[in-house]
Amino acid sequence: MFDLSPGLKALDAAHRRRTLRVAAGRHGVERPVDGRPLLSFCSNDYLGLAGHPALAEALTAGVQEYGVGAGAAHLVSGHTEAHQALEQELAAFTGRPRALLFSTGYMANLGLISALLGRGDTLVQDRLNHASLADAGILSRAKVRRFAHADPQAAEAALGQAPAGRRLLATDGVFSMDGDLAPLPQLARICTQGDAWLMVDDAHGLGVLGATGRGSLEHFGLDAKAVPVLMGTLGKALGVFGAFVAGGDELIETLIHRARSYVYTTAMPPALCQAVRAALRLTAAEPWRRQRLRELTGRFRERAQALGLPLMPSQTPIQPLLAGSETRALAWSRALEQAGIQVTAIRPPTVPEGQSRLRITFSAEHTDEQLDRLLEALARLPESAGEGA
Ligand SMILES: *Cc1c(COP(=O)(O)O)cnc(C)c1O
Repeated sequence: MFDLSPGLKALDAAHRRRTLRVAAGRHGVERPVDGRPLLSFCSNDYLGLAGHPALAEALTAGVQEYGVGAGAAHLVSGHTEAHQALEQELAAFTGRPRALLFSTGYMANLGLISALLGRGDTLVQDRLNHASLADAGILSRAKVRRFAHADPQAAEAALGQAPAGRRLLATDGVFSMDGDLAPLPQLARICTQGDAWLMVDDAHGLGVLGATGRGSLEHFGLDAKAVPVLMGTLGKALGVFGAFVAGGDELIETLIHRARSYVYTTAMPPALCQAVRAALRLTAAEPWRRQRLRELTGRFRERAQALGLPLMPSQTPIQPLLAGSETRALAWSRALEQAGIQVTAIRPPTVPEGQSRLRITFSAEHTDEQLDRLLEALARLPESAGEGA
C-alpha cells in the first residue's frame, strides 16, 4: 500500500503544509473566515465584481432561461446561444476575429499548447510562467526551454537554439505571484524575427490594465499581429469562472478539433456566460474601478516604501512583500490575521525556494480606511519573526 505520511511530514518539516480556510457570505473584501470577520487583501477579484448584484442577477436569470448544466460538451449539444454570444463579445473585446471558451484557464493552457505543439516543436517560456503553462509544455511533448524571468535577451537566445519545427513563445502578461509585466514589445519583436508565435496568458491583466481594461496588450499598444495567441481567464477581474482563447479563424478552428480539454469536457453552464457578459458590460461602463485600483496601488507603494517594507517592482494591484523563508511569511500572515486582515503566505513550490512572500492584492472595493488598516498592521509586523527557524 501507499504510505503517504512521510510526504506529509516532510511538508510539515519544511513549513509548506497548507490549510484550507472556510469563508462564508457573499464574496467581498470583508467576510467571515472560519467564523471570524476578516478584511481580505488576497483575492483576484480586482474589479470587485465577484459579489456584484448585477452579476448575481444575470446568473439567476440565466439559470431561469437555460437551467443549470450545459448537459454535454460544446461539440455534442452543450453549446448554447449564451456561449455563442459570450464568445462573440470576447472576440470584440480583444479585437480578434474569434474567441473560444474553455472551462478553466488551466484547461485552456493545456488544450492550447498541446493542440499547437508536438514532438519536434519547441515551447519557449518564462521561468515564472503559471504552473498550467509548465504542465502544458510537458503534456504537449514539445521541447521546453525556460528563459530567465522577463529577460528578452535570454528569450532570444532560447529561441535561437530551437530546432526546426514550430516555435511558440509563451508568457504571462502580468506575473501572478510577482505582479510585474512581461516585456511584451521586445518579445513580440523577437518572435517576428525568430519565426515564432507569441502567446500571452493575460489572466491578471485582463479587465485591469489598459484604458478600457483590455489588458497587457492594450497597455503596450500591441495588436493581434504582434500577439497572435491570447488567452484570458474569466474568474479573476471578471469575477465569474472560465477562460477563453482569442485569435484568428484558423487558430480557433484548430483548437475546436485538437484541444482535448475543449473537446472532451462538458461546456461551462450557460448561466455563467450570462454573468460574464454582465461583467464585460460593467468593465466597459465603470472605468472608475480601474482608476481606483491605480489609486490604491500608488498610495500603498508610497506608504509601504516610507515604512521600509520589502516591496517588489510591481505597478499592478498585485503587490508582494518578500519575506524569504516560509516561517517568516507564515509569521507575517498570522500577525496580520490577529489584526483582522487576511493575506495568505505564498510559499514554494508556488514561488521559488527562499522567496516566500505575502501576496497582497487590491480590489476596487477597498476603501481608504481599509488600506490604512492594512498599512497600520504591516507597520507592526514582527521584523525578523521566524527568521533562521
Ligand atoms: C489563475 C491563472 C490561470 C488559471 O486560470 P483558472 O481559470 O483559475 O484555471 C492561468 N494562468 C495564470 C497566469 C493564472 O494566474
